Amino acid sequence: MPKAYSQKPIVIAHRGASGYLPEHTLLAVTAAHIMGADYIEQDIVLSSDGIPMVMHDIYLDTTTDVATQFPRRARADGRYYAIDFSASELKQLSVTERSGSNDTPVYPGRFPIIPLGMEIPTLKEEINLINGLNKSRGTDTGFYIELKAPRFHRDAGFDIAQAVITVLQADNLHCEHANVYLQCFDDKTLQYLRETLETPLPLIMLIAENSWQENSAVDYDWLRTHEGLDYIAQFADGIGPWLPQLYKADTITPSDLVVEAKGRGLKVHPYTIRADDLALGVHTVDELHTRMFIDLGVDGVFSDFPDKTRFFIDNHFGI
Ligand code: CA
Repeated sequence: MPKAYSQKPIVIAHRGASGYLPEHTLLAVTAAHIMGADYIEQDIVLSSDGIPMVMHDIYLDTTTDVATQFPRRARADGRYYAIDFSASELKQLSVTERSGSNDTPVYPGRFPIIPLGMEIPTLKEEINLINGLNKSRGTDTGFYIELKAPRFHRDAGFDIAQAVITVLQADNLHCEHANVYLQCFDDKTLQYLRETLETPLPLIMLIAENSWQENSAVDYDWLRTHEGLDYIAQFADGIGPWLPQLYKADTITPSDLVVEAKGRGLKVHPYTIRADDLALGVHTVDELHTRMFIDLGVDGVFSDFPDKTRFFIDNHFGI
């Protein structure tokens, strides 16, 4: 039986073992695999030649040396967009730990911002790596793929959902028994996947806050209402809420989101467990794990520290 349908909560390594190594590098993926993640997350953006690349932002400047290598390729807003570069150009970039404004690290305690000669992986390369490790390690670690900014890609002339499915099909990963989830912040894209592209893969509706302006076409406040959850259950298999949405404003009293979602047969996979940036005012990462798995009974979590989450789940639910 696929792990996704067992009772034991699943560990989704968020951008690989991103608490320890630069996100979405093959090193971070390898580490997450060896730490025993059930699934490893891939965020997907497209190159100018339509190749699905594994990186989180539609921009390149926060995680690569693009400004050094291609100083004249920024748009008028000063940002460098992955969609303006071919896959072979993107492969020339060196990925580093994430930086914020003034080139300071977003997470100061994590891997330093130094070049290691690591490339942006294509989705195909990441499939090859995880399949290879599954073979050599005798595991069945799965893929948990997010389609980033589908409306942005559509405006640039691309169908990111179809592009990802084409890559999955080439490895027989677009079938009912493949260990693959698809996730998106855009409800219409999930409906398109389910109804038009007829995907057999489980779909997760990610839920943002309206204030983040993740996607102005979606009312995330409404998606969390009973009517909104009824709607999601028509085309999706689960929700990916932000951790604070699982509690009321006091961060202690549970909201009804988990109960209402589960009552509609929806899995609940909240984001993100960060040992160095704890949510909900807790003091230790295991306090957060206890809230999620023991108090609320969520079905899995996205974790930047998949080893810590694996350890907690195995201790409480058995190996
Ligand atoms: Ca993601």
